[in-house]
Amino acid sequence: MAGLTLKHIYKVYENGHKAVNDFSIDIADKEFIVFVGPSGCGKSTTLRMVAGLEQITAGDLFIGDTLVNDMEPKDRDIAMVFQNYALYPHMSVYENMAFGLRNRKVPEAEIKELVLNAAKILGIEEYLDRKPKAMSGGQRQRVALGRAIVRNPKVFLFDEPLSNLDAKLRAQMRTEITKLHKKLATTFIYVTHDQVEAMTMGTRIVVMKLGYVQQIDTPMNLYNKPYNKFVAGFIGTPQMNFFNVTLLRKGDKVEIRFASGDVLEVPYEKVAKAPDRYLHGDVEVTFGIRPDHIAISEKKTGMNCLANVVEHLGNECLIYGDITGKSAEETETLANANQIIVKTTESPDYAPGMTFNLVIDVDKIHLFDNETEITILQDIPAVSTFPAKVVGGEALEFLGAKVKLPEALKRVLKEKDNVEIDIPADGLIEGKDFALKVHECEKIGDKNLLHLEVGDRYLFALSEKEVKAGTMLQFSLRNDKLAIRENGELIHAPIPAEVELVGRFLKSEHREGGERVIDFFYGINEGMVAAPRENGFRLNAVEGNKCYRNSYKYVIPVEKIKVNEPILIEKLTPEEEKAAAKRPIEASAGINGVVVDKLDYGNIVYDVIQVGEQKAYAIVDLDDERKEVSIAFDGADVAVHSLDIEMRIC
Ligand code: ADP
Repeated sequence: MAGLTLKHIYKVYENGHKAVNDFSIDIADKEFIVFVGPSGCGKSTTLRMVAGLEQITAGDLFIGDTLVNDMEPKDRDIAMVFQNYALYPHMSVYENMAFGLRNRKVPEAEIKELVLNAAKILGIEEYLDRKPKAMSGGQRQRVALGRAIVRNPKVFLFDEPLSNLDAKLRAQMRTEITKLHKKLATTFIYVTHDQVEAMTMGTRIVVMKLGYVQQIDTPMNLYNKPYNKFVAGFIGTPQMNFFNVTLLRKGDKVEIRFASGDVLEVPYEKVAKAPDRYLHGDVEVTFGIRPDHIAISEKKTGMNCLANVVEHLGNECLIYGDITGKSAEETETLANANQIIVKTTESPDYAPGMTFNLVIDVDKIHLFDNETEITILQDIPAVSTFPAKVVGGEALEFLGAKVKLPEALKRVLKEKDNVEIDIPADGLIEGKDFALKVHECEKIGDKNLLHLEVGDRYLFALSEKEVKAGTMLQFSLRNDKLAIRENGELIHAPIPAEVELVGRFLKSEHREGGERVIDFFYGINEGMVAAPRENGFRLNAVEGNKCYRNSYKYVIPVEKIKVNEPILIEKLTPEEEKAAAKRPIEASAGINGVVVDKLDYGNIVYDVIQVGEQKAYAIVDLDDERKEVSIAFDGADVAVHSLDIEMRIC
């Protein structure tokens, strides 16, 4: 039994095809994880990397606490069940199950006990003497399962194990595998392209598309809170209905306006998390509603559809209609933008040609940005945007209070009048500038999201503590985290959380008491910072000797950057350089730069440091007046990205 950790895993095949990009997940012991997605999205490749059947191009794979990237499949303590069973045709069921154990020289008596026990769990005791060809598909798949069980592995891997079975048997095996998971209480990772299989079996599901993870969540959350339009459409049958709409706020209501002319009114509270700019009636978004969340009404409602096709399924009924009242012949295609699918209770009277009054469940609506296709109703909104007024170039009228501007913002805003400010969820801190009333404190995972009343809207902020609704709280702004716009144009970007510097990768070799010692460095301009040894080996493994010629992007958290005295860099002759390469390099190195600006945000001050052509930020002490500096950081805090192929290597 063991958990698994996949950290920034990539797979680039020899032909250059990038099959898996930046796959990260923590899998707890005993979880049932399903990888699902259309054919070719990289799920088998990921599974095969876990199994050790495919080399990992970049990233770390841990089983339990052990890094297993380079461990042989047989040593990983995993068992894999394949779609094609992979049984030996000339061996009996018993021999098939015993084969792996015999190879590992397990005593015969123990093998017998293990095989009989597995056969009992799977209900195949009476077939132990049969050859695979005398068995049905379902029975063969049980033997394949049995062969995995007898090994008592830490992790079971399944690669589309049921896709060769007919629908009825598939459904039956689904429940059997779920029961098996409970009985064995071991970690399962299961690959399928079938979303029903994923939804019914997984404790958590990873939805993939074109090599990228789209969402990792419980079946319920995938269904109710899809992160983007792809997940929304992929999970659930029949598929979610999508329409192009605009949104217009009117008091405590929001009108959802369809291209068909239909208007659906929803309470503002239902869409309060949508960024305000979507609610002015001029941005098209994608509205989503599942067929299950539309009811048919006797009474006339705002919206209706003309049924073009009606499918009677006995227990329920699917109506394929058109919300503009057009027939299939008129629109020529069933996949037109006004097509709607409704899943309703069965009635033998329902027939094509009928017009139905529709009631959309406003608690179940989805809204996606048309460009990014990401939901605009995120659990934790990324930013809340509010207008502000600059007073005399010195102060800001904002959130019902007047606050003095810090130096860094005064510069940007002194000639300005009306602006808009984006406050990220972590952009408000305990302070003294704004008193805001908590409308609601929503628990989201282990976080508390405060809905703070500002005029007729809410400002969303994260809080360490749980707070009672109705409480007044005092806040200040984290000025460095604000984006400020004037007429839609960005005039102040937040200070990034990470600095990106491009540089080279260096190695130095010397001998110490007869031993060869290799040190690695991140080289930026003429300076350098020590790199962890394992990163050196990793870069070498992924890129070969090219790693000393290539350029890399080093991503360093700003809060980890230290500012020191400048480093003395001797200009060496080529001969001296050769000699120096044989000596150990002082690891206390750094990268020289010039402080070109100081940004005072009131509660935090940054140095802007010019490093050659590049720019870095560092949090500084106020009394530090140096201009010539060097920056340094712990090499272990740096993420190294290849510029060649876009990929995080370590
Ligand atoms: P899935 O299991 O989701 O159907 P795979 O992981 O099998 O997808 O494949 C992901 C992508 O990688 C596909 O585009 C596939 O064509 C490609 N691919 C798989 N194996 C290889 C290989 N050995 N060499 C090159 N490309 C491969």
